[in-house]
Amino acid sequence: MSEKYVYNFDEGDMSMRSLLGGKGANLAEMSSMGINVPYGFTVTTEACARFYEEGEKLWDELNEEISKHIKDLEAKNEKTFGNNEDPLLVSVRSGAPISMPGMMDTILNLGLNDDAVLGLAKRTENPRFAYDSYRRFIQMFSDVAMGIDKNKFEKVLSAKKEEKGVSTDNELTEEDLKDVVEKYKVVYKEEKGEDFPQDPRDQLNKAVSAVFASWNNERAILYRKINEIDDSMGTAVNVQTMVFGNMGDSSGTGVAFSRNPATGENKLFGEYLMNAQGEDVVAGVRTPKEINTLQDMMPEVYEEFANTARTLEEHYKDMQDMEFTIQDGKLFLLQTRNGKRTAQAAVQVAVDMVNEGLIDEKEAVLRIEPKELDGLLHPTFTEKALADNEPISKGLAASPGAAVGKICFSAKEAAQRAKDGEEVILVREETSPEDLEGMISANGILTARGGMTSHAAVVARGMGKCCVAGAGELRVSEEERTVKVGDKVYGEEDVISIDGSTGAIYDTALETQPPQFKGAFGTFMEWVDKYRDMKVRTNADTPRDAAQALEFGAEGIGLCRTEHMFFKEDRIFQVRKMILASDLETREAALEKILPMQEDDFYQIYSLMKERPVTVRLLDPPLHEFLPKGEKEIADLASELNLEVAAVKERIAELSEVNPMLGFRGLRLAVIYPEIARMQARAIIQAALHCKKDGINVVPEIMIPLSSEVKELKLVKDTVVEEIEKVFEETGDKVDYLLGTMIEIPRAAITADEIAEITDFFSFGTNDLTQMTFGLSRDDAGKFLPSYIDKGILERDPFQVLDQKGVGFLVETAVKKGRDTNDKLHLGICGEHGGEPSTVKYLYNVGLDYVSCSPFRVPIAKLAAAQAAIEKESK
Ligand code: ADP
Ligand code: MG
Ligand code: MG
Repeated sequence: MSEKYVYNFDEGDMSMRSLLGGKGANLAEMSSMGINVPYGFTVTTEACARFYEEGEKLWDELNEEISKHIKDLEAKNEKTFGNNEDPLLVSVRSGAPISMPGMMDTILNLGLNDDAVLGLAKRTENPRFAYDSYRRFIQMFSDVAMGIDKNKFEKVLSAKKEEKGVSTDNELTEEDLKDVVEKYKVVYKEEKGEDFPQDPRDQLNKAVSAVFASWNNERAILYRKINEIDDSMGTAVNVQTMVFGNMGDSSGTGVAFSRNPATGENKLFGEYLMNAQGEDVVAGVRTPKEINTLQDMMPEVYEEFANTARTLEEHYKDMQDMEFTIQDGKLFLLQTRNGKRTAQAAVQVAVDMVNEGLIDEKEAVLRIEPKELDGLLHPTFTEKALADNEPISKGLAASPGAAVGKICFSAKEAAQRAKDGEEVILVREETSPEDLEGMISANGILTARGGMTSHAAVVARGMGKCCVAGAGELRVSEEERTVKVGDKVYGEEDVISIDGSTGAIYDTALETQPPQFKGAFGTFMEWVDKYRDMKVRTNADTPRDAAQALEFGAEGIGLCRTEHMFFKEDRIFQVRKMILASDLETREAALEKILPMQEDDFYQIYSLMKERPVTVRLLDPPLHEFLPKGEKEIADLASELNLEVAAVKERIAELSEVNPMLGFRGLRLAVIYPEIARMQARAIIQAALHCKKDGINVVPEIMIPLSSEVKELKLVKDTVVEEIEKVFEETGDKVDYLLGTMIEIPRAAITADEIAEITDFFSFGTNDLTQMTFGLSRDDAGKFLPSYIDKGILERDPFQVLDQKGVGFLVETAVKKGRDTNDKLHLGICGEHGGEPSTVKYLYNVGLDYVSCSPFRVPIAKLAAAQAAIEKESK
């Protein structure tokens, strides 16, 4: 039995996305819903896989199958391929299972040749239109299917326009276009050494092959890499009867969203152009009109389109992104898909759809990709900055957020300058898929041309990046490296600010502020909290971080690193003195100076966090990190300490280590210098006692870092407990407290049963645990890890996404062994992974009580945790 590689539109449905691609599955679905879709068929993704197996060739059985479907199409349309009376014309459209906008190109008007063009002219009684279609076809086919530089054709067209003294294509006559077609054919022959293919079946085969081959073009590969899309799934090809938006003034083409993709507002949003075809709308050739103006132009068509949009939304239960064509007053839908949207719109739409009864709360929570929330957690300009500054110009508010940076005129340069640590804004006439890398690196994107559905706008929204598009007053010159606004000229050293929420452009650096959590986002996060049962804490070292984290909804602090407090200007001197002290007395004197400062830090944080848990980690980094490096600094320190410079240098040398990551750090410091741990324990407890007086009952969690052997931990624990008892005795007052350790050395995970017997909690320090499990240096692995990912040795960077097989095994072991000997053991994570959605879901299922992450990732972790809970429940 031969395999089936081709499906008519009435043979498929939306569940067949992986076989038919998204576009094909949705065209089939729309057909079956009775929506007006030009008929056609889909060559499957399995055919794409086989195409590569065959050595990038189509094979006989497939050719036959395609021919059979062409026959069907001819019968259905009562037209014939290549016919000089009434020819069948088709579009050839790529469509992968996951939408990859702009990645693979479409060929329109396929089937035209020297005979068919006569037929088209005759049937439509519009020869101008027929030759316009033919010249478009030659151009697209040559570019997309045959790889001929499209500029070669653009040149011919421009020359013609010049010759005729006209500025747009629309003004060329039938005769002009006939001539253009002849010249195009000459270009083709020069480039390919053969005539332009006249046989429609031959054209079709070349086009289908080209679509399959385009799966592996550079842009497509890069897009998949960025979006973590599987390279093996392949693309389908849709072959569809052409309808013509370029047939005159009652024809047109457009794209529209069922709701506003930037804000989520429940109102049709889109653009169209009359007497135009295909990419004209998005390519910015002419300026498209807003969709609502269609209401006046063609009220019935508008009404029908609005109804179709609503029907599709109710059917897909999601916002739709649609492409349509009007041929002689008749509406055709050419595509629908769930629309890409900004995070703001995603949340707004999800909340609205719950209120409209389309979906329920849990579905709404599942709808938003956790990492997408990042787009909402971006800053905006402060009201004051907006009030004090006049924009120099305005474009479209294409993707929200506030961005400040120096001007970059090319994507390459943006990528480079960003790498060098500069804050940049990519300023372009308009962007194209080649600009992707630069768009990723820039803080924001500003274009002079293109609408809300231009490349820049679509891609920026997808990335959650601030973008102002179509700022028509800007004159951007990449060669001169200038952008002119009126008589002002700006260059690559000038800083600009752009507001993706209003479209405003400023020529200074405006002050930004953190995001606000009101409205739909607030409602959404309430649902997230309602369905979530794992706690989310934050890593915060200062009262400022803590306040920030509270605003983001943190439920406690999972990691407060005391060393960051040591670096503060007013205390680093005492810290250095403490470290350089050669005897206990001097060290204790320095520690005594530090004590009240630390105590005050903790007091501030506790007061802010109210009764929420706060985990304070005792001093962790190697001591040399606190010491001065420059000659002058060392000399200053020596004189302050009344020491010889040489003596200071000697002590610094003594403290330097070959391998500090595996060196004298963590609780090892407390083993050798117990007085440091004592001072910190005292500060923590005294601060809690102080709070108690204020009526705030804090239960401090004291965390001892880097243990690997229960005996060393026991020693440090005893030191800490002894000091705490002393404080209780001195003050005659008490607080409850917890004492735990970080599990960040494999040996600690393996001996977790012993460790759990003397601790109240574990916090997995997965940064170190990953480093030590892989034997990969956190600081240096960046030099070669990317190649490991390129070569497929590692799927993900294990410092970003927890390695479940290895590191996860240790975590699971520690959880199990720890709970075996201590059933009250409290479990959390404080590594970077605590804010990574897939890791959060994994750790929820491992059974952790909380995750802790940076303040900006708290809502992301919360959402991931809520989704994990909902997903678990529905299993
Ligand atoms: P993309 O994936 O880049 O959007 P499409 O395959 O959707 O590419 O094609 C782009 C545009 O080409 C469509 O939006 C539509 O305007 C036009 N097009 C495609 N197929 C047809 C067709 N059968 N008839 C008329 N226009 C078409
Ligand atoms: Mg499309
Ligand atoms: Mg650590």
